[in-house]
Amino acid sequence: MIEKQPSCEDDSEPELLPVEEARKRLFSSLRPVEDGEQVGLSDVLHRVLSQDVKSSVDVPPEANSAMDGYAISAACIPAAGEATLRVTGSAWAGRPFTGTVSSGEAIRIFTGAVIPEGTDTVVIQEHVRAQSDAIEIDDSVVAGKNVRQAGEDVALGQVILTRGHCLQAADIGVLASLGIHTVDVYRRLRIAFFTTGDELQALDPSTPDGLLHPGMVFDSNRYTLSALLSAMPVEVVDLGIIRDNEEDTRAVLQHAASVADVVISSGGVSAGDADYVTRAFHDVGDVSFWKLAMRPGRPLAYGSLGKASFFGLPGNPVAVMVTFLQFVQPVIRYLSGRLDVEPLQMPARCLSRLRKSPGRVEFQRGVLSLDEAGLLVVSSTGKQGAGRLSSMSAANCLIVIGSEADGVEPGDTVSVQPFYGLLPG
Ligand code: AMP
Ligand code: MG
Repeated sequence: MIEKQPSCEDDSEPELLPVEEARKRLFSSLRPVEDGEQVGLSDVLHRVLSQDVKSSVDVPPEANSAMDGYAISAACIPAAGEATLRVTGSAWAGRPFTGTVSSGEAIRIFTGAVIPEGTDTVVIQEHVRAQSDAIEIDDSVVAGKNVRQAGEDVALGQVILTRGHCLQAADIGVLASLGIHTVDVYRRLRIAFFTTGDELQALDPSTPDGLLHPGMVFDSNRYTLSALLSAMPVEVVDLGIIRDNEEDTRAVLQHAASVADVVISSGGVSAGDADYVTRAFHDVGDVSFWKLAMRPGRPLAYGSLGKASFFGLPGNPVAVMVTFLQFVQPVIRYLSGRLDVEPLQMPARCLSRLRKSPGRVEFQRGVLSLDEAGLLVVSSTGKQGAGRLSSMSAANCLIVIGSEADGVEPGDTVSVQPFYGLLPG
């Protein structure tokens, strides 16, 4: 009888490491960066704050008008019927009215203009009857209306952004509104990566597209990894393709560990490759090989190479992306000083029947959209092989199916992780 080794095709393997346990182990030994730098506002998109930001001003600095109309004192609003006010001046954005406003007077005012002293209410121009130098208002005018108060957006002394926050476009706008031109952020992590495999052929711009030598496949993982990393605030070091041998693997790991905070490889961690990779990794670092209870992405090597963290991702192109998104990206975020590191996960109604075996979490590729009622629905991209990278390209989310589930029926609620948020980056 043939004695069979555990395989990715097996339905359940008791020794598989649950995804949650793997995550715990990952984070237990990590220390986020501590050193920071001051960076100008134009270059801080997606950088992580290393200090809280406190406002030294009120925004807006003074009360100003939210509309075009007339600035009046609420005391002039008639208790019943109508009142006539004399228009004695005007106030524009950037050109305030500097005189005094007495009882029974109004000032023509435009959006953004400072509220003149002696007034506290703006009546919009559509709600007055205007004569040549006077206006009539009635008892429907509401005291204090259409005035943006000083400090109503951000108050002096307020902590507006906290350490660990990853700066987005709105944050950068808020910082500019406070007159802040440089911010304290953590330094960028350096991430080195390489791919492994004797079968890998690098893209060569000097040859026609698609020209492949017999037995070879194009090295897509290096491009995928490079693209994933370039969307993050990190410095990237591409170490190329490493052939399947112990010596080259050891050399690249030693070099990578000396230049990077995080080292990522693809391929060479499955059972067939494990010997030379295991020996190379053990020679230069403290690396464990995990068989994860997940699909795709069962084999994963993780550990430390000197001061660097190391991820040995599987070679299959979909597994590379899934393991990157589930493990590497949260770790890079955490090491970069971010406090929010986990992918956004939300429920959606599944329109497809999804096949799955119990005993491992599956990350299937899905297309998220809205149904006629405006509710989130998700359908499968179809066949889910770990080598079918086009399934990832066709998808806009991962469908996360829990370990215990033995499939999904149309109409069931599933969890999804959308690829893109509303904002870029
Ligand atoms: P491995 O994990 O090295 O056994 O690789 C698993 C599968 O992924 C094999 O079919 C490889 O040819 C494929 N593969 C590994 N690395 C890459 C890569 N960089 N680009 C495209 N396919 C790859
Ligand atoms: Mg390989």
